[in-house]
Amino acid sequence: MASSHTVLMRLVASAYSIAQKAGTIVKCVIAEGDLGIVEKTSATDVQTEADRLVQISICSSLARKFPELTIIGEELVVWVDPLDGTKEYTEGLLDNVTVLLGIAYEGKAIAGIINQPHYNYQAGPDAVLGRTIWGVLDLGAFGFQLKEVPAWKHIITTARSHSNKLVTDCVSAMNPDDVLRVGGAGNKIIQLIEGKASAYVFASPGCKKWDTCAPEVILHAVGGKLTDIHGNALQYNKEVKRMNSAGVLATLRNYDYYVSRVPESVKNALVP
Ligand code: AMP
Ligand code: MG
Ligand code: MG
Repeated sequence: MASSHTVLMRLVASAYSIAQKAGTIVKCVIAEGDLGIVEKTSATDVQTEADRLVQISICSSLARKFPELTIIGEELVVWVDPLDGTKEYTEGLLDNVTVLLGIAYEGKAIAGIINQPHYNYQAGPDAVLGRTIWGVLDLGAFGFQLKEVPAWKHIITTARSHSNKLVTDCVSAMNPDDVLRVGGAGNKIIQLIEGKASAYVFASPGCKKWDTCAPEVILHAVGGKLTDIHGNALQYNKEVKRMNSAGVLATLRNYDYYVSRVPESVKNALVP
């Protein structure tokens, strides 16, 4: 166990610097101006040069520093989203974009790093651009100031570019005071921990394990909860289905209220 702790701490420290390097690449691609956009399955499911370069950068750095990772891969798995919020990146909503590195041990998400390359991009020339938020389960989460929405206020954050009727039906059932539509799973979790939103509600397939692994750890490390729309915990072992087919429900506080409001019709439509 001592050696797996050592590997975990080395991995978290490396993932932190790897995520920062990734954030620099994300900013360089925007500065160069040619995003090299390719449609994957549809016009809202896109890939850019930044997705491709960051993927290569993260994977080669991890392989160089942790050649043993494949050997211990049965137990320790790294889930990487080189660019989360790509659709918004192509539309200039730059602070929606994050780089996500999530570390799972025996199927449980235990450490996560979120780099937000364009944090502060509208805050003026003196502001420091970009930041890294990181967390380890049972240790804590760092790189931000924890803030919560008052318990009586229901501010729901949900998808901006991947919405549909199920998503909006579920959001309406939460009795929201306000609904925020923004890109990125990482970005929506940041909204929860910084007091911008009370619940992240996404009642649809589309979101993958690499979208939720790192954000889930950060949220759990500060006492929040992320599950599918039925309330099931997500598993992150390497054989698991990539797709979060039964959607995502995440809150910093008052999880029971939000899970109790999910309509039966929505649950019936989303099979785990
Ligand atoms: P969003 O909240 O729309 O930014 O989605 C969060 C993450 O899930 C992003 O990485 C999206 O690319 C992914 N995602 C959600 N819905 C879909 C979809 N219908 N097709 C492809 N990717 C999706
Ligand atoms: Mg993503
Ligand atoms: Mg992505």
